[in-house]
Amino acid sequence: MNDYQPVIGLEIHVELKTVSKMFCQCPAFYFQKPPNTQVCPVCLGLPGALPVPNQKAIEWTILIGKALNCKINCFSKFDRKHYFYPDLPKGYQISQYDEPIAVDGRVEMIGKDAINHVSTKKIFRIRRVHLEEDTGKLIHSKNGTLVDFNRCGVPLVEIVTEPDFDNSDDVKAFLEELQVIIRYLGVSDADMEKGTMRMEPNISIKNQKSKIKNQKLPNYKVEIKNINSFRFVKQAIDYEIKRQIEILKSGKTPTQETRGFNAEKQITYPQRTKEEAADYRYFPEPDIPPLVFTQEYIDSIKVPELPSQKIKRYIFDFGIRFEDAFILTRDKKVAEYFETIISNIKNQIAKLHIKNQNYKQIIANFIVNKKISTDLPVEEFINKVIEDLKPKEVDKGLLDEAIDKVLKNNQKAVEDYQKGRTNAIMFLVGQVMKEMKGKAEAKIVREEIERRIKR
Ligand SMILES: [Zn+2]
Repeated sequence: MNDYQPVIGLEIHVELKTVSKMFCQCPAFYFQKPPNTQVCPVCLGLPGALPVPNQKAIEWTILIGKALNCKINCFSKFDRKHYFYPDLPKGYQISQYDEPIAVDGRVEMIGKDAINHVSTKKIFRIRRVHLEEDTGKLIHSKNGTLVDFNRCGVPLVEIVTEPDFDNSDDVKAFLEELQVIIRYLGVSDADMEKGTMRMEPNISIKNQKSKIKNQKLPNYKVEIKNINSFRFVKQAIDYEIKRQIEILKSGKTPTQETRGFNAEKQITYPQRTKEEAADYRYFPEPDIPPLVFTQEYIDSIKVPELPSQKIKRYIFDFGIRFEDAFILTRDKKVAEYFETIISNIKNQIAKLHIKNQNYKQIIANFIVNKKISTDLPVEEFINKVIEDLKPKEVDKGLLDEAIDKVLKNNQKAVEDYQKGRTNAIMFLVGQVMKEMKGKAEAKIVREEIERRIKR
């Protein structure tokens, strides 16, 4: 057994795409807007300005919590988290400390078993989901550092996992699944390049040989910030695991700190030592009353069918291969397009008499292999599929010729069939199909041969 066991937890921030900001009426959409044009006394933290929570943001946080199988707390509240940073004009961030909106969730990662059945491969637990406000942005230039407050106060959901990961591949797969879930909910674009989805893995290594008996978790933690792609998360984690194991092997303990990631060099570097919760001097936000939700309200927030549920339905109801079901469900638009085709094509398929083929799998193939673009209007897509599925018109003369030739050259098989070995006909059909280079329908070929050689 490996002496050094990585222990990885994740913090993921997702910016909500509400119309207005978290505590004021400024627009929440700030991308490429001129700096400091979407601000007001509330999001600038001017004295006397009062925050009013955005109801949609609260509803969407509950929705995310439900989609991640969390328990939704009927009582929740906002807290002030104090720290000084130039992009935080108030000197504190309104966040949630001990009463988050959602807790104790889980994400099941599904895969397939040997017979195309869906099975749960791994479960990663969600510790909490809470709502807070985003900070501004610093813009570093040659002449100094500028600050843009447009992003200040944009609703930000923080999702914290339990330290359930022990390798970077699982982290990457989980984050990709989470991104798909968030997008299905329609609450955020979860775009990492634009910073609407950000993640901070924290990594430590459990030393199995440690003298501390029954050590559950290591006594330090390294957090990595500023990672903006799934690939970089994997690289940063792999680098950090190696770095920490080397330190442990030398008999030392890695420093508890926050590190950055240099994508070019693919290394992490120290940024600052990590604050403890006490350093933030959390206290309840005095300007916002606690949030109290009735069970009725929580129940009224409905989670749509999620990708993992769609995969199961595609496999069990449509008979689609797992791999294709997986690809079809990565983008909700593609999944919906696929389902629209399936429900609209039914009647036309019935007229084609192609019972033996799973036309749903064929349609899946069309989309997955991109033979047809999903930008095509549904009607046109259906016409193309039907055209492809239609039994091809066969030149009767050519078919007769091919059958004549095959029957003449395979007298033995013909006699076998006539003696009652009916399987022999399959050989003859195969030969004719070969002659026709596949441009005939096996069913018709069989009928024609039978008609001729039956006694
Ligand atoms: Zn504002």
